[in-house]
Amino acid sequence: MKRWMCLYLVLGLLAGCVRQEPSIPQGVQVYFSPEGGCTEAVVDALNHATNSVLVQAYSFTSEPIARALVDAQKRHVRVQVILDRSQRTEKYSEADFLMHYGIPPLIDAKHAIAHNKIMVIDGYLILTGSFNFTKAAEEKNAENLLVINDPVLADKYTRNWHAHQAHAEPYDRPRQSESPRGRQSSHY
Ligand SMILES: [Zn+2]
Repeated sequence: MKRWMCLYLVLGLLAGCVRQEPSIPQGVQVYFSPEGGCTEAVVDALNHATNSVLVQAYSFTSEPIARALVDAQKRHVRVQVILDRSQRTEKYSEADFLMHYGIPPLIDAKHAIAHNKIMVIDGYLILTGSFNFTKAAEEKNAENLLVINDPVLADKYTRNWHAHQAHAEPYDRPRQSESPRGRQSSHY
């Protein structure tokens, strides 16, 4: 009996030595930019993804977030991205980067602007707010990001994501006949 107790004690100590990744918190977290940890929160959430990531983004120029998406894809997480049509002509868009790493984004050109900034991770975690997935949003702008752990709400976002997916088009580089819309979207 004593031997078993020693074994449990040793196993317990060993478990304590293994570094546990902090889990995604329950409820709702909020982050504010500039420099308030928004990008870090997005990357952290993506690093915990095990099954699926749905993204809707207006502007997408954040290299760390693009890399975290690619890393998730490499872990066999299914990553699907819908972007605003401005990303076809956006100078610093990460759309090409995603394309290159096997995440071909879709373009939602059905609206004046596809202004959602959303991620749904593993069907339970929602990231949304004014925070665009951009360097400017992290470093220069006043933005907010909510991280919401709520499977019921996530289901509503997932259904809305698929509604936009239904009329989205494959991403391609700008056609000669198509002129840029003249917005300075890199400011977002
Ligand atoms: Zn749409």
